[in-house]
Amino acid sequence: MEKLGKAAVMTAPNTDLEIREYPLPNVEKGAMLVKIKCCTICGSDLHTWLGHRKSPTPIILGHEIIGEVVELGEGVRTDSWNQHIKVGDRVSWTVIDNCGKCYFCKGLQLPMKCLYLKKYGHDSCDEKPHFSGGFAEYCYISPGTCVIKIPDNLSDEEAAPANCALATVIAGFEAVELKPFENVLIQGAGALGIYAAALAKHYGCNRIIATDINSQRLEFIEAFGATDTINTRDMSNTEGIEAVREKTNGLGVDAAFETAGVADIISMGLKSLRIGGRYVQFGNVFPGADFSYDVSDIIFRMLTIKGIHNYDTRHLLSGISFLSQTREIFPFASLIQHRVNLENIREGLAFARSGKSIRVAIVP
Ligand SMILES: [Zn+2]
Ligand SMILES: [Zn+2]
Repeated sequence: MEKLGKAAVMTAPNTDLEIREYPLPNVEKGAMLVKIKCCTICGSDLHTWLGHRKSPTPIILGHEIIGEVVELGEGVRTDSWNQHIKVGDRVSWTVIDNCGKCYFCKGLQLPMKCLYLKKYGHDSCDEKPHFSGGFAEYCYISPGTCVIKIPDNLSDEEAAPANCALATVIAGFEAVELKPFENVLIQGAGALGIYAAALAKHYGCNRIIATDINSQRLEFIEAFGATDTINTRDMSNTEGIEAVREKTNGLGVDAAFETAGVADIISMGLKSLRIGGRYVQFGNVFPGADFSYDVSDIIFRMLTIKGIHNYDTRHLLSGISFLSQTREIFPFASLIQHRVNLENIREGLAFARSGKSIRVAIVP
């Protein structure tokens, strides 16, 4: 008899997910099937569920996943870091599956924007192999995906957000060539901001200034390397900029990272940069995030603005290494303060939406 697995399926935005059963797929050459041990709910899962952005349906959301290998396809002997892999190993994998041959993959080294890109938790689950997202019992990892084994010293929950939030932040640091002793501004103390602060500390940055409108989150980010926090809730843009400049001898920060997904804070971020400063946009991942800015300031002060979407394999490898090396320094496990099982996904999504926990985990 065909073996079945459960999944929580979104059939339309803003409605309760439906628990469905699908047959487990045959594992093709180069692929693998994993049993999901933990999936954390990312901000972008919430945006899709709430209908802030278009998405195919039916869909199994969830892409920050840790799985245990249950079946390996023909030819799979190692992970993408050349480590031997076997049934029972715990793995994380890139959120993208790219073709490796198209203009963006091969011609421009931008696999994250592959013409034939597939993304876990972003595509319809109507057709086989069905198990394409994290809100499920199983996930099918197709051959174009890069997989990495999880080191023994990391728990499932510590490692789960690595393949989205953390790897994306690492890609952003690389894009602006962040250097030791630089001063940075992090706008938003959610998961992206927390990883950005911890990484900046690890990189040897000097002032790591975090802003948010939530004082609890600002207190929380101090444990992740933020040297200064500024609550901008009751501040004007000008006051916010002044507060950042005061901490950098009036010059402004070398680099700033928008990690909140709020378009209104972009001008403050740009104005807080020093001459020649670099700005990274991570958070505004849904349409309508317009902002207005005097472009002459970008010219005269020679600013750089980078948009970062998805990432490449090396960023995930670095992310997993970083977590494994620094888990005693930064309390990554505390990002997850709430857990539900698949049947209680409704409660999990509501909790994630409330913002009371940086991440909510779905566990078996
Ligand atoms: Zn491609
Ligand atoms: Zn994500």
